[in-house]
This record gives sequence, structure tokens and C-alpha cells, in this order.
Amino acid sequence: MTHNIMSVRQTTIKQDAVLNGIGVHSGSPVTLLLSPSDPDTGIQFIITKNGAPIAELQATSEVVKNVTLCTIIGDEYGAIAATVEHLISAIRGLGIDNITIEMESGEVPIMDGSAAPFVDVLLESGIKEQTAPRRYIKVLKTVRVEEDGAFAEFRPHDGFHLDVTIDFESELIGKQSIALEVTPSSYAADLARARTFGFMSDVEKLWAAGRALGASLENTIALGEDKILNPEGLRYTDEFVRHKAMDAVGDLALAGAPLLASYKSVCGGHSLNFKAVETLLGDKSAWTYVEAPRSRQYAHAEMGDGLVAANFAAIKN
Ligand SMILES: [Zn+2]
Repeated sequence: MTHNIMSVRQTTIKQDAVLNGIGVHSGSPVTLLLSPSDPDTGIQFIITKNGAPIAELQATSEVVKNVTLCTIIGDEYGAIAATVEHLISAIRGLGIDNITIEMESGEVPIMDGSAAPFVDVLLESGIKEQTAPRRYIKVLKTVRVEEDGAFAEFRPHDGFHLDVTIDFESELIGKQSIALEVTPSSYAADLARARTFGFMSDVEKLWAAGRALGASLENTIALGEDKILNPEGLRYTDEFVRHKAMDAVGDLALAGAPLLASYKSVCGGHSLNFKAVETLLGDKSAWTYVEAPRSRQYAHAEMGDGLVAANFAAIKN
């Protein structure tokens, strides 16, 4: 049986939502205003300066400026939204097609280093179906990219499947793999809560360079020489690879539409994911746009926000 998770209609959030936090690199307070938007508008950032809009940025690979430490999108006049990856991951992970994010030029708040606080705010606002049919990017053939011993691969698939492997020298992480069909409920239960991580030795270097000023045990799993420094420990025994899978959901969303594909990544990160998206989109024979078939069966099973909310509430305790 084909595991069909395609949803029929586009979605947006039900009402405005406000999110406050601090930027991980600047250490400064940030406020985001999330608002519903029209069908076919996608994930859109409105960047303001001193409260006045200065740029509109569509969250697609075309506006990506940098993926070294975090994903930064921006325009040629210097308007930027940095550290967008976990927010975009939550939006795509929950199957939200259209949303506007208004923020001062700078960073999206890091929150607890995972996508869960964004998921909470989005589910609290509520998700509603719109009338327009959802449009997917359907992968038609295998597309593979490699980078410094890492590789990633798209393959055709009737859904969105992720298969992520990491392999770190540090015994605190080691080799970890996760493979799953990503649906709003599996995303919320299995990926959203996984936090970002860093080695104390690297964090100290970043601090010396004036970066990661907001990084702390409140928003990062900190790895010491031979132990995890966070007193509460890990949220999942394999939290590291789950975080990488959560990152991949956000990075792949920069393709500009949900994917019908399976994606395998071995030892990759933002840079490899981004390269995979650009390579896929650059090969016109490798994909096509398709509209969801007009069957209602899965729309209710997967997009009912009540169901996602219930699952998510269940796993938070
Ligand atoms: Zn991340």
C-alpha cells in the first residue's frame, strides 16, 4: 500500500501570535509577530527597522545569504533575518503553507534551542485549511550531492521521508541514525523538541569572536570533554540526530513548497542540505510541481490541528 500523506488544501494560522525571546548570536531581545496570510503567498518575512517595514523576503533558497553557523536570509540592502531555520522547520513540519513573520532586521529568537516553542505558538494560534489546493515539489529521480565526505540524496517518494545519520568522533554523540515519515504529528512528537548542541571548546571560540553571546545551557546542549553539561540531561537519548532531522525539515522548506520525496543525509548539516536543495531545483528534469489529489481522506487525518495538538500535548509531559 502506498503511504499517502498528501494533504489536499493549503493552510495558514487562525490568528496573529506574538513570540518573544533572545537572539543566540546577539544576545538581544527579539519580538516576532506571526500572522495568517493568503493562499499561494508562502512563508514570508516582513523585515522592519525602527518599526517601519524595509523588506519582504520569501523564505526560499534564492534569498539565503549564509548557512555557516545558522541560516541567514536577506536582501541586497542589508535587511536580514538570521537563525530562521528552527522557525521555518516548525512551520513546514506542521504543514503550514502560508504565514507572515514580521520582525526587526536581525535574528529570530533561539528560544530553548529546539522547534518546540514555535510549534506551541503555532498550535495555540490554530491551523486552518484554505480553499486553494496545495502544490508540492515532486521529485522524479535520484539527485545526489557530496561535500567533504558527507552526502545527501533525494529520491522519488509518495510522502516526505527523512533518513538522517550523523557520526561524531566524540563518544558523547557517536553514530546515530533516524528514519521516519514526516507528518505534522510525527514532527511534533519525534523531532520538534530536539535541541541544538555544541562543544564547549567551540562555544568558547565563538564567544571570543563576539558570536553566540546568547548561547547558554537554556538553549544549547553543551558538550564538555567527557560529559553533557546540562543538568537536566537529554530529552531523547538520540537528541543530536533528531535535531539534525528537524534542521533538515527547515532547510528543505527553502525549496519553496512541500516536497514529495525521501531525503537521506549522511554526516551533513545546513550547508549540505542547502546544496541539495539548490542542486535539485537546478535540474529541471528532476522534479515537477503537482497538486494534491482531491481526496479528503488524509486531509482530516493529518491536518486536523486538534489531532496534532493532542499528540503534541501528550508527548510534552
Ligand atoms: Zn538547528
